Amino acid sequence: MFDLQDDHPREECGIIGIFAPNEDVASMAFFGLFALQHRGQEAAGIAVADGQAMSMYKNVGLISQVFGPRTLDGLKGHYAIGHTRYSTTGSSSVRNAQPFMIETLNGPLALGHNGNLINSAQLRQSLLEDGVGLSSSSDTEVMTMMLARAKGRTWGERIQFCMREWIGAYSVVILTRDCVYAARDPWGFRPLCVGALPAGGHAAASETGALHTLGCEVIREVNPGEVVTLSDNALVVHQAIASHEPLARCVFENIYFARPDHVWDKQSVHHVRQRLGEELAHQAGLSAGEADVVIPVPDSSIPAAIGFARVSKIPYNDGFVKNRFVGRTFIEPTDSLRKRGVGMKFNVVNENVLDKRVVMIDDSIVRGNTTGPLIRLLRNAGAKEVHVAITCPPIKHPCFMGVDMGTYENLIAHKRTVDEICKIVDADSLTYLSVEGMMRAVGRSEGYCQACFTGEYPIPVDVETVKTGFEKSLKQEPV
Ligand code: SF4
Repeated sequence: MFDLQDDHPREECGIIGIFAPNEDVASMAFFGLFALQHRGQEAAGIAVADGQAMSMYKNVGLISQVFGPRTLDGLKGHYAIGHTRYSTTGSSSVRNAQPFMIETLNGPLALGHNGNLINSAQLRQSLLEDGVGLSSSSDTEVMTMMLARAKGRTWGERIQFCMREWIGAYSVVILTRDCVYAARDPWGFRPLCVGALPAGGHAAASETGALHTLGCEVIREVNPGEVVTLSDNALVVHQAIASHEPLARCVFENIYFARPDHVWDKQSVHHVRQRLGEELAHQAGLSAGEADVVIPVPDSSIPAAIGFARVSKIPYNDGFVKNRFVGRTFIEPTDSLRKRGVGMKFNVVNENVLDKRVVMIDDSIVRGNTTGPLIRLLRNAGAKEVHVAITCPPIKHPCFMGVDMGTYENLIAHKRTVDEICKIVDADSLTYLSVEGMMRAVGRSEGYCQACFTGEYPIPVDVETVKTGFEKSLKQEPV
């Protein structure tokens, strides 16, 4: 697969759960997942139950590629869960697509997961030692199998039992024959929220934008450690395990992952991003006499560039046009196209940068393989100077909580100074937002994971084994 993604941490996954009596729940799940497509573009799936039986369809590809009228018509019922996937643990085959659906002694069961379990290798090993066969390399299958065998008289009790065993980041939706559950880990790493549907019933989703797409009135977040039950008995909320103090919400949801219309920790992500840009402008210290135009790398940096321009008084304008439809493709480009690299995804609005001193705002630099080519595109279009300002601190450490940033060796800021990076990408100046500035913009002094910047992981991790241990523990990758 040829990858035309830009240099970002890779989103984790998006999940949705719906109980909608008398509605075509499969098409609701489809449109809800559409609003979460940015959280994962490799595979998608929907499982539906009608009170008795359960059916599911999943495949690799974008949601619009996976589902059509025929596949959705085959999914009948009024309970649904859906998942859109980027692989964090497990490879990218259809075998790892979600939800996972199995038959259990207590009826059919399906599960979709956003996050990454720190202890998945141990949990997997203990299942294998108990004689449980596994068909994929996904930690979601491990979670599903654990749930099927968990102690408890009800699904609620079994979920609670498993939540005591699952260590790490998880927001999950769980489907039984007559109920949808939504649960969130006690650290609150990944988002999950619930809303009321206009014609009755409820929905849970990774982001509020997906709930709004369904016409929901957003009720609130699923609190860390909580299980919310969506069924005929209305919305039932249960604090299954105590939340961790302090919480460890992923700060990168604010910086890049979440759609700007998402409300995360009671704040609009768009507004937090504007404040990130304002803080960055204070820190960069560039004034209107020193630069001519502020341009964002679209799309996620647009609010921050607006905030930067407001504080610096340097005019804002569009500098790049991004092709939003280019991502991963099975079509191999020709050699000459391949050499165009980021030029296949970004075009420059020449007249907006010609003979100008440009401030380019981006949300992050991970491997550093896109920033240099973007700067080159601007210089080729006639920019006199290119100053780069990044709305987060240098990413020095990998994430083990469900975000793919690669390993230490992949991270350009690991073991390099800002000056060294500035030279590598050939910028006239490079400013990263400080950790303090980032948290001022977020408006919270604690309750957020910042481990990829600081190396202080909210859960002790064995850096050597956590990321690769799960894959290595597989004797043989399923084909
Ligand atoms: S390490 Fe970074 S990306 Fe991972 S959960 Fe923490 S803040 Fe988010």
